[in-house]
Amino acid sequence: MLYEKLKPLIEKTLGFHVKNAPGVIMGVYMVDYAYELLDSLYPDRDSYVLNAICETRVCLIDAIQVLTGCTVGNKYLRLDALDIGRYALTLYNRDTALGFRVYMDLGKIDKNVYPELFAFFNKSRDYKSASRSTLSEKTIDEFYKAERSVLSFQKVKVNLPAKDDLAPAAVCAICRESFLIACSDDLQNPVCGYCSKLAQNKAVPFQITE
Ligand SMILES: [Zn+2]
Repeated sequence: MLYEKLKPLIEKTLGFHVKNAPGVIMGVYMVDYAYELLDSLYPDRDSYVLNAICETRVCLIDAIQVLTGCTVGNKYLRLDALDIGRYALTLYNRDTALGFRVYMDLGKIDKNVYPELFAFFNKSRDYKSASRSTLSEKTIDEFYKAERSVLSFQKVKVNLPAKDDLAPAAVCAICRESFLIACSDDLQNPVCGYCSKLAQNKAVPFQITE
């Protein structure tokens, strides 16, 4: 029973995530598992730089950020795998590029033993049978019974990204705000991403109303 050990971490991560979600709880177990596997290679966690790869934009990414300190902001959490969309993460030693990938193994989720967990990952939840929150509670209960038995891991050698040089800042010719310039940008007449999208009638994340 890992639950007793992980309970405080689950509460902390759910607090960060703000809403209750089965995926967050699973994510805590997955991070804990990957960390433990990495400990078998590198027992001293302070002796190397930990990096993480997350393969999904949903819940799991918050468990990584809360439990490992690898975040979007400090760039120890790599974002180049986010759109793969698998429920999986990799923790690795940045110095050796060796690490472990932990993933939700659908082949280990017995439909008869864990029907809601099965439905959760096979996108076959029956929302007519019960409310979303009831289904989530059932999914969580089943996961607590399953714990690591539905997870699998792979040892991986990570392809380290080319060291990205800090993008130089420029002042936008239109809004006069400082922004990080991309190498493809026009250095003589720099225009930020917002202003250039606006000029091309492309979707922008917000409109200024006053
Ligand atoms: Zn601008």
